[in-house]
Amino acid sequence: MKINENYKKLEESYLFSTIAKKVNEYSAQHPDKKIIRLGIGDVTRPLCKSVVEALIKASNEMGTKEGFRGYGPEQGYDFLKEEIQKYYQKRNVELDIDEIFISDGAKSDLGNILDIFSKDNKVLIPDPVYPVYVDTNTMHGREIEFLKADKENNFLPMPENSHADIVYLCSPNNPTGAVYNRKQLETWVEWAKENNAIILFDSAYECFISDTNLPRSIYEIKGAKDCAIEFCSLSKTAGFTGTRLGYTIVPKNLVNEGMSLNKMWLRRQTTKFNGVPYIIQRGAQAVFTPEGQKEIMENINYYKENAKLIANTLKKHNIFFTGGLHSPYIWLECPNKMTSWEFFDFLLENSAVVGTPGAGFGKNGEGYFRLTSFGTYENTYEAMERVDKLLSDILKTVGV
Ligand code: PLP
Repeated sequence: MKINENYKKLEESYLFSTIAKKVNEYSAQHPDKKIIRLGIGDVTRPLCKSVVEALIKASNEMGTKEGFRGYGPEQGYDFLKEEIQKYYQKRNVELDIDEIFISDGAKSDLGNILDIFSKDNKVLIPDPVYPVYVDTNTMHGREIEFLKADKENNFLPMPENSHADIVYLCSPNNPTGAVYNRKQLETWVEWAKENNAIILFDSAYECFISDTNLPRSIYEIKGAKDCAIEFCSLSKTAGFTGTRLGYTIVPKNLVNEGMSLNKMWLRRQTTKFNGVPYIIQRGAQAVFTPEGQKEIMENINYYKENAKLIANTLKKHNIFFTGGLHSPYIWLECPNKMTSWEFFDFLLENSAVVGTPGAGFGKNGEGYFRLTSFGTYENTYEAMERVDKLLSDILKTVGV
């Protein structure tokens, strides 16, 4: 037996385990202190009423002779795909029902899609970035080139002169919260066509975009159906992080070497995946009803209020940041030129607030820090009071 040697090249991920260790140590030393966690990328608002009712109804159905369902279509039930089709139509994007694939979340599909691409492709990945893109390509042994995302380009890298075959774009971005505008995505689509490349577009946070001029789907850009696959998720949109449901769009226009990527993905999914539970798909269907949409928007707006609290605190102290407006993430420059881990320790020690050091998302994340708006309003408010005081104190002593 020989193992997949590429796994030896994976960098150990110490980010969240190191955070947990440091927080536990702090907690043991300061048992009286209330620690506020603004580091997690998981939602905290419960599932909305419409979803819960649909889950219960579908569970009851499964307990009856008439309503019981066994294996379903691997690519999802039409009742859900039709809702997603209508959802895209609202933004003038026409999708064929067979272009929509339901899955157990965007993470699985982002990794699994690589099955249909040759190992010999050169991949472009922004840095900093959601770590799954890097690790899944490393597991396949693919050549990765990093696209520098920094303060200069507002953490929105654009194509450079070099050629690549696959590019990952994530907008609104995790961890930076930055969002591409229409013009920027048009440039990426042009680049992909010129290079016969494919864009893997991660729109997991599209629901946080409230400016109608900003694209929520790559397919709002003319020509994108010829060069892009889109991944989306109900995790952050509707609190499905534990319930699990995502969807991937593989347009039929995507044909290479005489092979349809849509058919290849269908073949991959029907071979290696057996579909999302019927009950969960019924819950997801409820997200797209007018009532469901209203309820999920209440939760998203709740998080956005938290984001506003964080953004206002940073603005007050003239700290550079991206995100927070059309994204649950706020990506800030560490004050006083601290490294991201120094700032992590400083924040924990002096205000018992936990965030995520930017260095954990790539080389260019050094010197930056991610705060999330997924906590409660009360905790976010209290955390920002503490941070405000702390930053005022630093300003007084070192004059940042
Ligand atoms: N894409 C991005 C950018 C994410 O941040 C996450 C989760 O944090 C995912 C995809 C994964 O989504 P899912 O829960 O649907 O697997």
